[in-house]
Amino acid sequence: MADTMRSFQGKGVYGAVAVGTAHVFRRQEAQVRRIRVDDKAAELERLEAAKAKAAEQLSGIYEKALKEVGETNAQIFEIHMMMIEDDDYNDFIKGIIDTQSVNAEYAVAVASDNFAEMFSSMDDPYMQARSADVRDISNRLIACLSDTEQAEQSADGCMIVCADDLAPSETVSLDKDKVLAFVTAFGSSNSHTAILARNMNIPAVIGIGEGFLSELHDGVRLVVDGHTGTVIIDPDEETVKQYLEKQREDAHKKVLLQQLKGKENITKDGRSVKIFANIGGVDGIGAVLANDAGGIGLFRSEFLYLESTDFPDEEQQFRAYKKVLESMAGKKVIIRTLDIGADKQIDYFGLDKEENPALGLRAVRICLTRPEIFRTQLRALYRASVYGNLGIMFPMITSVSEVEKCLAACEQAKSELAAEGVPFSDSVETGIMIETPAAAVISDRLAEIVDFFSVGTNDLTQYTLACDRQNAKLEPFIDTHHEAILRLIELAAKNAHEHGAWIGICGELAADLSLTETFLRMGIDELSVSAPFVLPLREKVRNLYLK
Ligand code: PEP
Ligand code: MG
Repeated sequence: MADTMRSFQGKGVYGAVAVGTAHVFRRQEAQVRRIRVDDKAAELERLEAAKAKAAEQLSGIYEKALKEVGETNAQIFEIHMMMIEDDDYNDFIKGIIDTQSVNAEYAVAVASDNFAEMFSSMDDPYMQARSADVRDISNRLIACLSDTEQAEQSADGCMIVCADDLAPSETVSLDKDKVLAFVTAFGSSNSHTAILARNMNIPAVIGIGEGFLSELHDGVRLVVDGHTGTVIIDPDEETVKQYLEKQREDAHKKVLLQQLKGKENITKDGRSVKIFANIGGVDGIGAVLANDAGGIGLFRSEFLYLESTDFPDEEQQFRAYKKVLESMAGKKVIIRTLDIGADKQIDYFGLDKEENPALGLRAVRICLTRPEIFRTQLRALYRASVYGNLGIMFPMITSVSEVEKCLAACEQAKSELAAEGVPFSDSVETGIMIETPAAAVISDRLAEIVDFFSVGTNDLTQYTLACDRQNAKLEPFIDTHHEAILRLIELAAKNAHEHGAWIGICGELAADLSLTETFLRMGIDELSVSAPFVLPLREKVRNLYLK
């Protein structure tokens, strides 16, 4: 091992390997000075001109993002455009210019600190992440005011970009052909930057820690392993050889897996299983089709709400569902109704703060207590149903009566549409997620009233083992293969089949290849995984012999 070789551990956001030279991304943070001004009106005019320029830049970035990372991910830049026009933010800036008679750059910098601070002190991780967005738009405004270029043009060359953190606009501005990977000291897997990275297919490691950056200088050689989250500074030749080999293996595996496209998911002894994919928005369809998934087993519809600043109306939702159904051309598309609450909080829902949000008012509980929200979604879903093969699925079910209420709401939506002469399909399947032990235990009764089950192993694990899935410290206590979880799945599978329903798994465990055989032996009919796992799972299934 070379003396200078050092290894760091972060979190892999996109699984691939890169070997290259480091480029330390230095943001050209404008040095803002406080200058007293006599002509406040002139400062306000400068501010308006800078806002117009920033909006023009953002619309260019939005168009670029739209092409590269799809509509859902590009929406962050639309949000930036809105933030620049936000009344509170603008009133704050203008108030400082007016009361302190100072230059606009200084007023924007103060507003940036204030609003960023406010967001980062919020409990909700989604709102905390908005702190970076306020800084991002404020830096842009200051750059426009001082007529300097923003840092996004500086990250070029065929390099591994290393930064404290990358704002969404910086991430998307990176030239994909020149950037081999990126590594950030901070960042969370919840952040838009991490989501964009996955969609840009750039190997990425986040949360590597500040120590990493202090040991780094431009041009030093790096190895980035997005699978494991390991980053090595100044690797010796032997290490480089190992990782280049890993890179070749990845590439080879990808080529081999491509040959499985169009093939059946059938075991050696003839048992066939459906392999579907999970998506969070319309822009996930590209990956679903590219990986030859047989359908969509889970469309997490709450992302439509999370990415919006207000309730998406019936028309907006209808368009999104229609697009997914049409793109899947008759293949099954299971759309889960709103699963908000717990770790997915949205300000405009105005939900009360709860002591134990994972055990609180979430998912279907919100839909049943706020019927107007549920009604809008169900109407949009049924209207879209004529464009493909739709399944509607309800999350967080614990009782028969909840399911009956959900089904009654479906009937209500259908009769309204019928009365209005709006067409809908009469072959929409309805199903529920099995993600509470209660649902698994009474799955015989539930199977009698729905068409299908889909096991949400992420929540089923947290509720069965009493381990908060958000709490990293519980990692050592979480045994995802725990016998209790497997028994509950087995029970649900048996009950589903005995009472006329089919059963799938759409939680992360569906992609755990060490359990594929166990699941198939239980009689699981469908496995729904994130798109890159479809072909590896197909390979696994085709190599199994169950008899
Ligand atoms: C699950 O709980 O396993 C699931 C698929 O739902 P989510 O991860 O969105 O809670
Ligand atoms: Mg869940």
